[in-house]
Amino acid sequence: MKVQAAFAAAQHRPIEIAEFDLDGPRDGEVLVEIKAAGLCHSDMSFFDGSRNWHDYPIVLGHEGAGIVREVGPGVASLARGDHVILAGIPECGECPACRSSKTNLCDAYFKPTQRRPFSLHGRPARAFCELGTFANFVTVREWQAAKIRSDVPLDVICCLACAGATGIGSAIFTARMERGASAVVFGLGGIGLNVVEGARLAGASAIIGVDTNPEKEIAGRAIGLTHFLNPRTVPDVVETIRGITGGGADYAFECVGSSAILSQAVESTRIGWGTTVTIGILPGDERVDLRPRALQEGRRLMGSYLGNVKTRSELPLLVDWYAEGKLHLDALISHRIRLDRIADGFGMLSDGRARRVVIGFDEPPHP
Ligand SMILES: [Zn+2]
Ligand SMILES: [Zn+2]
Repeated sequence: MKVQAAFAAAQHRPIEIAEFDLDGPRDGEVLVEIKAAGLCHSDMSFFDGSRNWHDYPIVLGHEGAGIVREVGPGVASLARGDHVILAGIPECGECPACRSSKTNLCDAYFKPTQRRPFSLHGRPARAFCELGTFANFVTVREWQAAKIRSDVPLDVICCLACAGATGIGSAIFTARMERGASAVVFGLGGIGLNVVEGARLAGASAIIGVDTNPEKEIAGRAIGLTHFLNPRTVPDVVETIRGITGGGADYAFECVGSSAILSQAVESTRIGWGTTVTIGILPGDERVDLRPRALQEGRRLMGSYLGNVKTRSELPLLVDWYAEGKLHLDALISHRIRLDRIADGFGMLSDGRARRVVIGFDEPPHP
């Protein structure tokens, strides 16, 4: 079938839209009509020069929600008409990682696949995370589609697939924050604001946000931030956090992707048990740079990928939390656009004007 899809053709070239051919579902695959997809910084890395990638063209988009329209042979867990969230990390359910409660990183995620359902001018094309949700239809593995309840708006919960899972999950599943703990969140973008959501849900006593953009304070306070620090006006962020928390935060979350900020995050946590979760991806060959005794003093540093959320078995739980009014996802979405305005959407994301931008494939564009 013919589909409209946004793709990257090369580094340092604007994102483009073209008509692709899409192969139907084969063994273990489903055809999903995408209803909404969120824009994420990692999509940008395929055209803004920040990623070393050579397999172009690549259909972008790795956060999306839609409706199953066709199921391939051997698909047992999904049926036509099911509402699904698509996630970058599969959950095969059978590998050692899927059987362990310690990780969400299914072994299948690290095995390259030769399957290319999209093609452009007869040439098979890659899809980011084997998804490519910036297309009105996608053919994906059953393992990457999480069945969800059908009474929630897809253009809101689509953001759970990447930003939501990463942020909320980092506080609840990775850090396992306990009630009454204090948290500091460095970087209040789409991920950082979801960490605030997760920390609030975990029952944090104080949630401190650190961001150079003073406008982030309003969005942050609306969802549970108790303190806001702008490093441009606060001379010593680490000392200030130690002061607010009485010795150091119980938990810190680095959502920027900077070695210097990661070091600050670790230093801002309490001696003895302070835990830092590294979420932002350090650019290029930048290394983690910590004071030698920073961890010896009893602090912990943890990594997190998609917030340790198992995509098929636990993502639906986050959808339930939204339906029950526990998550304020609507407040995190600042712009809704159509696919043809995707380049503007990324512009708003990169210059910090937008919190989360969502592409709707059905609805008329919102102003
Ligand atoms: Zn993402
Ligand atoms: Zn697995």
